[in-house]
Amino acid sequence: MAEKRPPRTLGPGHDQFWEWCSKSELRLQKCASCGGINWPVRQTCEFCGHAEFAWEAMSGRGKVVSWCSFHQDYYGGVMPRPYDCILVELDEGVLFLSNPQGFAIEDITLGMDVAVQFMACEDGGGSFKLPVFARV
Ligand SMILES: [Zn+2]
Repeated sequence: MAEKRPPRTLGPGHDQFWEWCSKSELRLQKCASCGGINWPVRQTCEFCGHAEFAWEAMSGRGKVVSWCSFHQDYYGGVMPRPYDCILVELDEGVLFLSNPQGFAIEDITLGMDVAVQFMACEDGGGSFKLPVFARV
C-alpha cells in the first residue's frame, strides 16, 4: 500500500526526475557543458549557468553524513510523527536528503553505507516512487 506524503514539487525538470524514479532509477541532471551533477533540480547549471542537461544514472550508493527526527507537524498531519530524515552523500558527491528504510535512526553511525530503494507513495498528484535509503 502506498504511503501518503506531502505534495512533491512538479514542473519542468522535476517531472523528469519523478519519471526516472517511477522506473526505479535515480538519475540527476548532468550539465552538458561542464559535466557538473546538479541537485536539487535546476533550470540552469549551478556551476556554470548552462541550461542543457542529460539525466545521468547515479550509482544509488552513498554514506549517511547527517540525520535527525522531526517531531513538529509541518505537513498538516500527512506525515506520522516523529519521522526520520537522513542526509546521504552519494558516491557521485551529491548531498541527497531522504528517509531511512528498514533501520532506526538510533542505529545510524556516521559514514554508514546505504543504497537507494524506491518506496510506493502517493500525494495529491497521484502515485509515485520515492527514493529512500537502506543499509548495505
Ligand atoms: Zn555546468
